[in-house]
Amino acid sequence: MGSVIALANQKGGVGKTTTSVNLGACLADQGQHVLLIDLDPQGNATSGLGVEKRNIEKSVYDVLIDDEPLANVIQHSSHPGLDIAPTTIELSGAEVELTNLMARETRLKDAFGDVQGEYDFILIDCPPSLGLLTINAFTACDSILIPVQSEYYALEGLSQLLNTIKLVQKHFNPALKIEGVLLTMYDKRTNLGQQVNAEVKKFFGDQVYQTVIPRNVRLSEAPSHGLAIVDYDKRSTGAAVYQALAKEVLANNGKA
Ligand code: ADP
Ligand code: MG
Repeated sequence: MGSVIALANQKGGVGKTTTSVNLGACLADQGQHVLLIDLDPQGNATSGLGVEKRNIEKSVYDVLIDDEPLANVIQHSSHPGLDIAPTTIELSGAEVELTNLMARETRLKDAFGDVQGEYDFILIDCPPSLGLLTINAFTACDSILIPVQSEYYALEGLSQLLNTIKLVQKHFNPALKIEGVLLTMYDKRTNLGQQVNAEVKKFFGDQVYQTVIPRNVRLSEAPSHGLAIVDYDKRSTGAAVYQALAKEVLANNGKA
């Protein structure tokens, strides 16, 4: 059975999608068969991996709302070994539509079917909220990877996130764990970066990854080409750090 990891933080712009796409590609390069589920209506992981809107017949929306099996929406991405369950803006209505459906918290999990057996890793890119889409991810996953942006209020909002994790543990998924906490957009030239790093380590201890993701302009350019960083600029710092993160994730999951 593959490991299912949700990437979540209700703050926007902290590096969830960048990490989903590039960790996914780097795990694939380590010989893992990887599926990325795009659970954010913005669809940035979908477009960032070269899947065009006009080529999406069925999406994650159909899975959550119309009982479409997950297997039926999966496509190849621009990176070999990395598949994607794409999303469209239609998913933005799902948060409300889910409210009136049976088993609204477990619909993603219920749609997995045999898919989990076909992949070594399933990554779920969550939207920037703690609503029903994110709850569906937490119910379906084994663990949560929390990207934290290296900035002044880095820890703000994390208690709400941890509270939501506790609620899902209590009601739907007792085995749910934190996979790790990832510092993103780190700027080593400032004291602030180091302070935030120390603060996050104080709070999360050894759950913080050794790998820290620095600001790297190549990482922000790659999505507009529909490419993971390793396909856009293999020699960039961005590629090196996500390769290092993939090795840590493999080791933590007993696959190194
Ligand atoms: P989220 O999914 O949490 O909203 P994104 O991954 O989309 O965050 O990142 C927000 C913005 O910051 C995007 O434009 C992305 O390209 C950029 N970005 C993310 N990580 C980095 C990084 N390490 N260096 C430079 N830009 C980054
Ligand atoms: Mg995102």
